[in-house]
Amino acid sequence: MKRKAKSNLISQQMSLQQKNRLLLVMISLALGVAIVSQATLVAEAVQRIFVEKASFSTVVLLLGLLLAVMAVRALLSYGNGKVGLHMAARAKTNMRASVLQNLTHASMPSTLSGQTGGKVSIALDAVDEADSYFSQYMPRMMEAAMIPILILVVTFTQHANTGYIMLFTAPFIPLFMILVGLQTKNKSEEKYAQLAEFSGTFLDSLQGLVTLKIFGRAKRQQQEIERSSLGYRDATMGILKIAFTNTFMLESIVMLSIGIVALELAIQLLVFKSMTFHTAFLVLLLVPEFYSLLKNTGTAFHSGRTSMGAIRKVEQMLADTSVTSMPTEHEKAEKATHTSDTNDLMVQQTGVHAPRTELIPMPPTIELDHVRFQYAPDSFGLETGQISIGPGEQIAIVGKSGSGKTTLLHLFAGLLKSDSGAVLVNGSQLSSYEEAAWFERVSYITQHPYIFAGTFAENISIGAGRNVSRAEIEQAAEEAGLAVVVAQLEQGLDTFVGEGGRGLSGGEKQRLALARAFLKRPSVILFDEPTVGLDLHTERVLQQSIASLAKTATMITVAHRLYTIQHADNILFMDNGVLVDSGHHEALLARLPQYAEMVDVQRKGGLA
Ligand code: ADP
Repeated sequence: MKRKAKSNLISQQMSLQQKNRLLLVMISLALGVAIVSQATLVAEAVQRIFVEKASFSTVVLLLGLLLAVMAVRALLSYGNGKVGLHMAARAKTNMRASVLQNLTHASMPSTLSGQTGGKVSIALDAVDEADSYFSQYMPRMMEAAMIPILILVVTFTQHANTGYIMLFTAPFIPLFMILVGLQTKNKSEEKYAQLAEFSGTFLDSLQGLVTLKIFGRAKRQQQEIERSSLGYRDATMGILKIAFTNTFMLESIVMLSIGIVALELAIQLLVFKSMTFHTAFLVLLLVPEFYSLLKNTGTAFHSGRTSMGAIRKVEQMLADTSVTSMPTEHEKAEKATHTSDTNDLMVQQTGVHAPRTELIPMPPTIELDHVRFQYAPDSFGLETGQISIGPGEQIAIVGKSGSGKTTLLHLFAGLLKSDSGAVLVNGSQLSSYEEAAWFERVSYITQHPYIFAGTFAENISIGAGRNVSRAEIEQAAEEAGLAVVVAQLEQGLDTFVGEGGRGLSGGEKQRLALARAFLKRPSVILFDEPTVGLDLHTERVLQQSIASLAKTATMITVAHRLYTIQHADNILFMDNGVLVDSGHHEALLARLPQYAEMVDVQRKGGLA
C-alpha cells in the first residue's frame, strides 16, 4: 500500500507537468542529435585536415559549423537542467501546499499525537529532499532513455562490431552500480546509527553539563564522547573505502570497454584495412559519450532513490494526518498519548476556516452528562456525574496531581471523546458540531504554549485566523501585558522568537498565548494555570488579562491558585478520576473534608 501511495504522489506531480516532460523528451532528443553531429563534424574535420591535408579555407565552414553545434549542445544541456529545476520547483510548491493544507485541516487529536512544528519541519525538509528526483533524476533518465540508443544506432550503422561490444559491456555498468548501492546501503545505515548515537551522547552531555560537573562525571562523559565519535569516524571511513574501491572498479570497466573497442578498431583499420579512418575516429569519439551517459545515469539513480525515500515520507505524513473527523475510539487511544505536549494549537487550527459563529450562540452553556472516559482498557478512567455550566461562568477544576484535571479539560475542549455519556454544548453533543466551528470559538492556554520560529508579531497574529493590522497586534500585546516585554527589545514586535530566536520565559509564553486569545476573542477559554511560581508582577499581569478576556467567555481553569479557586463560580473537585463534588468555595469547604484539606495545604504552601 505504501508503494502505491508513493507512486501516487509522483504520478500526480508528473501528470501536472506533462508539458515539461514533453519538453524534456524533445531537448534530450535534440541533445542526442547534437552529440552525434559534433562527433561526426570532428571526425570529418580531422579527416580533411590531417588525412586529406585540405587547406584551411576549405574547412573553415566545417569548423564554424562544429563550433555552432558545440554551442547548441551546451545550450541544450543547460536547457535540460533548467526544465528539471523548473519541474522540481513546481512539484515542491505543490507538495508544500498539500502538506500545510493537510496539517491545518488535521483533526486536533492527530495534531496532538506529535509536535506539529516538528512534523511540519520534517515534512518540509523531506519536500526539499524530493528536489533531486525532478531536477536530476528525471532529466538524466530522459537522456539515458534516448541518447545512448541513438548513439548505439549510429554506431551500428557505422561499424556493427563496435555496436555489439557496446551492447555486451553496457549492462555491466548498471549492474555494478546496483552492487555498489547494495554494499553501501547497509554500511550507510550503520553510519546513520553511529551518527545518531554520537549526536545523542553529545547532546545529552551538553544539556547535562552542569549536573555532570557537579557530580564529577565530566571526565567519564568525555571518554564516552570520544568513543562514539571514533565509532562514527570508522563507519564513515568504511563507506568511503567501499565507495572508492567501487568507483575505481567502475572506471576500470569503462576504460576496459573503450580499450576493447579501440583495439578492435585498430585491428580493422590497420591489419584488415576494412574501414576508413573517418569511420574509426567517429566511432571512437562516440563510444566514451555512450559510457559517460550511462555512468551519469547511475549517479542520478542514486540521488533519485534518496528523493524517492523522502517523497515516501511526505506521503506517509499526509496519510497520517488526513483524518479530519472526530477520532474513533481506537484512534483516540492511539493518538492522544501525548496530551502533555498539548500546545496552544487551537488557535493555529482555526486559522484557515471562515467564521461560522452563527452556528453556536456564545458564550455557551456546557454540560457534562455522566461522561466516562478511558485512555485505554485497564488504564486511568474518568467519571463525571451531571454538571451544568452556565454561559460566562468561571469554573475551576481542582484536585491532586494525576486526578484527571487535564483529562477533563481535554474532554471539555473536544480533544478527547467520551466513551459514554456526553459533553453537551448549548444542549447538543459537542461531537455533533463541526470541529472547525467549535475551535473557532475556543482558546486553550496551556502551560507551555507553542511558539513557532518567527517574530513576536507573527506568533501573535496566528491567533486571529485572518489578516490583522499591526495596530491590532499591538493592541493584543498591550492587553496581554506583553507590551512591557516587547518595549525592552531592540526590534520590538519584530524580534525573532521560538527555535533559533530569542528564548521566552514561561510567563512570557503564556502572555503570548493570551495575546493570541485577545485577537481571537473566544467564547470559551480553557486555561491551564501555571503550577510553577511566576514572579508576583507577572502573575498579576496574567490574572488581570485573563479576567478581562473572561468577561465575555465561559472559562474553565485547571486551577492551582487559591485566588482563582476562591473566585470561581463553580469548583469541580476531582479525585482519582472521579468528579467527587462541585460547588462554590464556601460550600465545598463546609461539606467536603478533602477539599478543606487541600485548601489548607495550599494556604500553608503560600500559594494564595
Ligand atoms: P492531572 O491533570 O490532574 O494531573 P491528568 O488528567 O493529566 O491529571 O492525568 C490523569 C491520569 O491519566 C494520570 O494517571 C495520567 O498518567 C493518565 N494519562 C494522562 N494522559 C494520558 C494519555 N495520553 N494516555 C494514557 N494515560 C494518560
